[in-house]
Amino acid sequence: ELPELTETDPMAIGLGYKKDTATVDAAKQPKHKPEQNCANCALYTSKSDTAGACAIFAGKQVSAIGWCSVWAPKA
Ligand code: SF4
Repeated sequence: ELPELTETDPMAIGLGYKKDTATVDAAKQPKHKPEQNCANCALYTSKSDTAGACAIFAGKQVSAIGWCSVWAPKA
């Protein structure tokens, strides 16, 4: 199983990744919307109800309710 991406990972910091979309700082991420999360992002591949793989963060699992600034809607 892939290791969990932490918020302190340098790339996670660079892309504003949070394990819970509800904790994203609106002042730092003005384009963020509360309904956006990894589970409804185009780059997410579900592995379980709570986590999955992300095309950006290779080799790590991201939280289903997480978010980062690369978020894009599923087609
Ligand atoms: Fe989550 Fe999408 Fe960002 Fe990956 S690109 S961490 S799936 S919001």
